Amino acid sequence: MWWSRKSLPDLDDFLKQLFQENMLLVNARGIIPEDFKYSAPAPLPSFFSLHIAEGCNFQCNYCYVDSPSKGKRMTLETGKKIMNLVSRLPVHFGIIQFHGGEPLLNFPLITELVPYIHSINRQRENPFRIAVQSNGSLLDPEKAAFFVENRIMAGISVDGPQEIHDRHRIFRNKSGTHASVMKGVAACREAGLFPGVGAVLHEPDELVEVSRFLLDQGWTSFHLNPLACHGRGKNLRMDDAWGERLVKAYLELIDILLDRQEQLPPQTLDVWDVNVLILHLISPSRPFMCMRSPCGAGNTILGFSAAGDIYSCEEMIGRSEFILGNVHNVSDLQEVLSGERNRWVMSRRVENIPACRNCTWRGFCGGGCAGKAHGVFDDLFREDPNCGFLSRVFPEIAWKVHRDKKMMGLLGKLWRHLVFPGENRAMAYGGPPK
Ligand code: SF4
Ligand code: SF4
Repeated sequence: MWWSRKSLPDLDDFLKQLFQENMLLVNARGIIPEDFKYSAPAPLPSFFSLHIAEGCNFQCNYCYVDSPSKGKRMTLETGKKIMNLVSRLPVHFGIIQFHGGEPLLNFPLITELVPYIHSINRQRENPFRIAVQSNGSLLDPEKAAFFVENRIMAGISVDGPQEIHDRHRIFRNKSGTHASVMKGVAACREAGLFPGVGAVLHEPDELVEVSRFLLDQGWTSFHLNPLACHGRGKNLRMDDAWGERLVKAYLELIDILLDRQEQLPPQTLDVWDVNVLILHLISPSRPFMCMRSPCGAGNTILGFSAAGDIYSCEEMIGRSEFILGNVHNVSDLQEVLSGERNRWVMSRRVENIPACRNCTWRGFCGGGCAGKAHGVFDDLFREDPNCGFLSRVFPEIAWKVHRDKKMMGLLGKLWRHLVFPGENRAMAYGGPPK
């Protein structure tokens, strides 16, 4: 960019703005102090993911846990053991998530374990929240009513319109699952439950079409997850060209979201990772565990297999090198967390990942997902497999934030995490829910 002497005041403003947005160093110092830890690990986990049914009625082509049709199911005894251990952790708040496989294949366990969680909650100042992550096909009015009655949050997976969704999300007989998932969504909405939604992105060029579908179906908040290229998806690859195409699609999506947000109440649209990318560029808070260094594995989240094996993250369930112990043999989760294996997982920080060590964006990206890096490269100390996207998207979003203040309107619920150095650092972990 070139300025004439006449326009120097503009240059002054421009440079000041860059400094305030943490995009410029002055005398090697940025607005964020050097000793500020962008992403110190959370003191203790607050998110507990229980794989209560390891089998699944779907056979998605990209399933990273490669769920069989009839996998192991968690027993009530194991579920209670997990809750007893978790409830002894001195955590301020926590989420218990039923996951799988397809957790609703073990709905009887949910109906028995939920009252037990409520009984624990009655002794607690801050009750555990309960959530279920389902493929959506087994949701019906009875289950939806149970979730409403027991204040259970539901999340489901919809990969977009039928022709896209049914490409990979298929039943065991290879037929598409879209119609049954949307029927489950309708049953929930009828009962007054509005499930959150996540879409797995098959092709970058479909990002806008998928997002438009979700917006048109009434979702203003959703997650967009790139394919996991391990497990059953091991033959899929995300290369540099994939990353470039995805950045282009993100920029197109952001323009659409900016237009839509203008017609809605402030901060209505809450699209992950658009909101996360913006937040990381303008604030040191890191509420999203998957873009911290180290990531949330073993410090923000713990995963439990159906048999009660404990893992640093649910993403790692099924890989024996990540088993930290078994709930039937341990009496204190803090001991498990301080064990050698969990310390090994948590030593995956950007400075210990060769590709990330000198990356310009390491303070914003955090090196990405430990579970995916290990799943794809068989090496925990590799960069996120989606690095081709991550390394390109930050500069593009930074320029967009700088040029268009309306970008702040896309922070969604993350607006409350907008903190600056010197303010409440506890918020860097996400803090208690509001
Ligand atoms: S953008 Fe890539 S190289 Fe940079 S920190 Fe993230 S994963 Fe590592
Ligand atoms: S292993 Fe992956 S999914 Fe698990 S906390 Fe880390 S980044 Fe998130």
